[in-house]
Amino acid sequence: MTTLAQEPDEQYEESAGRPEGYATHDVTNQPPPLAPYDASDDTALLEGLRREGAGWAEDGLRRLGRRAGSAEAQEWGDLANRHEPVLRTHDRYGNRVDEVEHHPSWHHLLRVAVGEGLAGAPWADGRPGAHVARTAGGLVWGHTEAGHGCPTSMTYAAVPALRTTPELAEVYVPLLTGREYEPGLRTPTEKRGLLAGMGMTEKQGGSDVRTNSTTATPTAEPGVYTLRGHKWFTSAPMCDVFLVLAQVAPGRGQGGLSCFLVPRVLPDGTRNTFRIQRLKDKLGNRSNASSEPEFDGTVAWLVGPEGQGVKTIIEMVNCTRLDCVMSSATLMRKTLVEAGHHARHRSAFGARLADQ
Ligand SMILES: Cc1cc2nc3c(=O)[nH]c(=O)nc-3n(C[C@H](O)[C@H](O)[C@H](O)COP(=O)(O)OP(=O)(O)OC[C@H]3O[C@@H](n4cnc5c(N)ncnc54)[C@H](O)[C@@H]3O)c2cc1C
Repeated sequence: MTTLAQEPDEQYEESAGRPEGYATHDVTNQPPPLAPYDASDDTALLEGLRREGAGWAEDGLRRLGRRAGSAEAQEWGDLANRHEPVLRTHDRYGNRVDEVEHHPSWHHLLRVAVGEGLAGAPWADGRPGAHVARTAGGLVWGHTEAGHGCPTSMTYAAVPALRTTPELAEVYVPLLTGREYEPGLRTPTEKRGLLAGMGMTEKQGGSDVRTNSTTATPTAEPGVYTLRGHKWFTSAPMCDVFLVLAQVAPGRGQGGLSCFLVPRVLPDGTRNTFRIQRLKDKLGNRSNASSEPEFDGTVAWLVGPEGQGVKTIIEMVNCTRLDCVMSSATLMRKTLVEAGHHARHRSAFGARLADQ
């Protein structure tokens, strides 16, 4: 015990030589850090992987699980949520740029996720069980952080919707199903890999997208329109392309709510109009930016037939909702792992919590 009579130096010396020691107390009965651990150490998951025809992916999944549980990847998850995305509407000269800056940890997480095939890759993988393998990968890599699963999920989900329009699918699907993560706004076809987002929701309607008021006006070029309006919740606005719903007035075609492909950068290298008004102040999912973009003369390509917007984009929505199930399961599993670790190392009333 340190007494009041001791000089400060003596107090210091008493605790010196014990790295965990402090002048007033020792750290005891606290768990060691969980990392490094193996996030794929999950019997039900591995059994499911084999049962559903993706046993071939087990070695890769184990590797990814160890990487997810590494101290480095766990820290990326922590940092990506501490250093939240920042909206830059203008550059220093006053030009509109509408970019969101992320902490490097966000890019590290996305690079691994895309590289490990957790975005669009299974659509280009002929092996049976490719989608099962991706989901299992998401279940273990999700131990790092949930927010970056939003753009990988939307990229995965955009593919079946885009395939309704073969001429667009031919250009974009190979880039959405690749394993290269290339951040930054550039002409999509000049990048090695793309991410996709979606803009459906508007203030006045929420899930009832039939109330969308964003308009799409046909241009002289068939299949090309310009959009005008505002979206209330467009996540991951630094994605390269978006599927967007907008109303076409009846005229040359059928008219009605339709689905469009909106690239952030046009084929000639100029920026498409995608004015980010603000980022949402969300309760969760804070590492990931969600935005309110404004479209005004925004160039868009029709996906699926005019008037069939919901039918077309629902393919994308369905896939993202399946990924919501995956992400929720990951969060529950991670919570259980954390709780089990704590209970194995913490004692109360004379025994470890796990034994109580
Ligand atoms: C983290 C996050 C990210 C998002 N990212 C995107 C994005 O990238 N792109 C995008 O377009 N949108 C995005 N959204 C918006 C999302 O699509 C909407 O929040 C969702 O469609 C619900 O709309 P709303 O919040 O306006 O609620 P509302 O539609 O107004 O619903 C309010 C309540 O009514 C209930 N309700 C709605 N319809 C019915 C019905 N038919 N029958 C019975 N009950 C009903 C709902 O369950 C809810 O409880 C995101 C939302 C969140 C939280």
